[in-house]
Amino acid sequence: MTPPDPHLHSWATGLLDDLTVARGRDDRLTHLELLAPRAARSAAWPAWTPPPVREAFARRGVERPWTHQVEAAEAAWAGEHLVVSTGTASGKSLAFQLPALAAADAARGERGQRGATVLYVAPTKALAHDQWASLRSLGLDVRLSTHDGDSTREERDWTRDHAEYVLTNPDMLHRSLLPGHAHWSRFLGSLQFVVVDEAHHYRGVFGAHVSQVIRRLRRVCARYGSAPTFVLASATISEPEVTAGRLTGLPVRAITDDGSPRGQVALALWEPPFASYLGENGAPVRRAATSEAADLLTDLVVAGVRTLAFVRSRRGVEQVARTTAELLAEVDDSLPGKVAAYRGGYLPEERRELEDLLRRGDLIGLAATNALELGIDISGLDAVVMVGFPGTRAALWQQLGRAGRGAQDALGVLVARDDPLDTYLVHHPESLIGQPVEASVFDPDNPYVLGPHLCAAAQELPLTAADDRLFGPTTAAVRDQLTAAGLLRRRPHGWFWTDRRPASELADIRSAGGSPVQLLESATGRVVGTVDGGRSHGTAHPGAVYLHRGETWQVNDLDLDDRVALLERGDPGWSTSAREITSVSILAEREHARWGPCRLSLGDVEVTQQVVSYLKRRHPGGEVIGEEPLDLPERTLRTVAVWWTVPDDVVEEAGLAAADVPGAAHAAEHCSIGLLPLVATCDRWDIGGVSTALHPDTGLLTVFVHDGHPGGAGFAERGYRAAADWLRATRDTIADCTCAEGCPSCVQSPKCGNQNHPLDKGGARVLLDALLAHAPGSRE
Ligand SMILES: [Zn+2]
Ligand SMILES: [Zn+2]
Repeated sequence: MTPPDPHLHSWATGLLDDLTVARGRDDRLTHLELLAPRAARSAAWPAWTPPPVREAFARRGVERPWTHQVEAAEAAWAGEHLVVSTGTASGKSLAFQLPALAAADAARGERGQRGATVLYVAPTKALAHDQWASLRSLGLDVRLSTHDGDSTREERDWTRDHAEYVLTNPDMLHRSLLPGHAHWSRFLGSLQFVVVDEAHHYRGVFGAHVSQVIRRLRRVCARYGSAPTFVLASATISEPEVTAGRLTGLPVRAITDDGSPRGQVALALWEPPFASYLGENGAPVRRAATSEAADLLTDLVVAGVRTLAFVRSRRGVEQVARTTAELLAEVDDSLPGKVAAYRGGYLPEERRELEDLLRRGDLIGLAATNALELGIDISGLDAVVMVGFPGTRAALWQQLGRAGRGAQDALGVLVARDDPLDTYLVHHPESLIGQPVEASVFDPDNPYVLGPHLCAAAQELPLTAADDRLFGPTTAAVRDQLTAAGLLRRRPHGWFWTDRRPASELADIRSAGGSPVQLLESATGRVVGTVDGGRSHGTAHPGAVYLHRGETWQVNDLDLDDRVALLERGDPGWSTSAREITSVSILAEREHARWGPCRLSLGDVEVTQQVVSYLKRRHPGGEVIGEEPLDLPERTLRTVAVWWTVPDDVVEEAGLAAADVPGAAHAAEHCSIGLLPLVATCDRWDIGGVSTALHPDTGLLTVFVHDGHPGGAGFAERGYRAAADWLRATRDTIADCTCAEGCPSCVQSPKCGNQNHPLDKGGARVLLDALLAHAPGSRE
């Protein structure tokens, strides 16, 4: 590790010494980064701020706003579309609340009639409710209302006719407000601001859907004579103006110069030691990140350090909280009650109670999923433990931002899981620190997403050729396909939706594709939940252990004709993971680049997948204790892939024997899938891959990495654009791993369709070196 600068010795580094040196864990700390504090910069309230608004914020302790809040509010007031992209707890809400509240106030008629209106859109209902509560507590004379699935008929009527500031979510826009726009004509016609909060949540297929919902909203507003100003708020992301522009289809200005203060933050990168047992194919495995995190959380609670541990799964949250409580009991009987679990799905009262307990110090440690990011307000935490990389650098900084609000010092610890991405990151701090955070990746032009929204738009108002510009370059082609399929009908005044059912039913904006499968409790027939059609074979097959809201269920039967799976409660003591066989055929190459004799391509493919068996893994630990065959049909998926080919003579020259090629290509494929999230905002479960020593379409050694969603989600394309960086990181991960023949930290994959066999770690390195010999050298 890098020794900390003695001049920067601080509360956090002293604490880290206690966690490492004092307990013989020095070797687990792979890097310590000390991030300099930032001074506060404030500015005067804009001249147009209504005095009651200024007084309301002053009562909340805001005497003068930060500079970025004023910059954003002034731009919005002037009608400029903008995105505020600054850190956690930097006061993004005030930046949009100020102009929005001022607009409602300024435009109100003499007798209090509604003038200007504001629409606030949050990714979840809970977050919109929190925003509503925060606005209401300002005590201003503004007519606020939430509009969501919980609203009664009377509430909806009142909202439509009287509310000035409406808080909702994209699902409600898509299914209710836009299809019923005629009832909302007065509200929409006076719309001055549309606030899109937590905009970084709109990525992948969901991002593409929401971008089309926003286009439909703009189109309907134009019909009623309004052209609202869009104000977006986002975590720090790269090129926020590009992402916000893609989301809204408008030119958007980015405001990123954060004027809020920050204390010194120490970020520790942490790698758990090897476990005493061996993994698949006898590979060495590291201690589970959750077990390691429970140790750290225990030590921090004993030291009285208020700590939040972010864990990726609900089961992981329970496990960390339970293990920590057990360890604390060994120290002192009074301590176990100082730690709790937060899984999401809590009622507002329950969340408020947790916040109070933490604030008062009755609770010192809290294990939580990142659901907590939405709708909990905790200030004054001392430390954050992240159990596994949270998926993006943007999310990492956001979670870290939970510690040390205001000018306090803070500690963050990132505990690596045993996979290629986390391992790479804790050994390459330069890939985390000082790097721009990722852009949010999504593709509004995906025809599988656009099609249903064009139908919905046609039902709202007939489509005309003038809409082509609004909906993007693929509109005319998709519209023609929909017309040929009989979904739209061409008439002199445009294209019409003529079906009786609501067109918005064609698009499930939260689903990744395929018609969903309902999960039913066997004994009672009660609906427990649903699973996306595309994932049902892998997660709801007979014998699958399924986690739902922290409860463990086992699947008895999956009926694909009726789209139902039957489940019963119970934890057999193991988890399951499906094995899938995949093949790919190339439909069309869109683009390619030559890397010397090798070739890198981006294009459309058809992926054929079949779930053939599942593995049982004991938990905790994950040892494989059995495999059961399954009889499920093949599925095909048309999507986008990035692929690379290496000619035989190059393979031969590199010294790779023909017998070793399949294992080398397979190992390179696995590791590259694990590392794609380094350049694209995806999860390794959002993508898939296939490798073959001789592919029928290319006649060469070919490795494919494809999007897991119909029509693609933009991830494979990001991989193509950043291929040199991505594949170099893949090569380095393999070269640097200390295992002998491949392990979960480098080339083994938990979702391999072929039992991680054959895998040739050394061969993969040779192969990637040969491929990268002629790759462009510059870093992105
Ligand atoms: Zn390894
Ligand atoms: Zn595999």
